[in-house]
Amino acid sequence: MVRSDPYPRSTPRRFECRSCLEVVVTDERVATCPECGGRMKNVSVPRE
Ligand SMILES: [Zn+2]
Repeated sequence: MVRSDPYPRSTPRRFECRSCLEVVVTDERVATCPECGGRMKNVSVPRE
């Protein structure tokens, strides 16, 4: 089997705010919520 890059640059990641549950989908790193400034949690769907 061929293993793909664990962090493909073209795949957006999904971040969820721990405070207001705002969800941001981006291929960039998101540390703080754009809505409330709270901490973001990476909730990208794990593959297999
Ligand atoms: Zn928030």
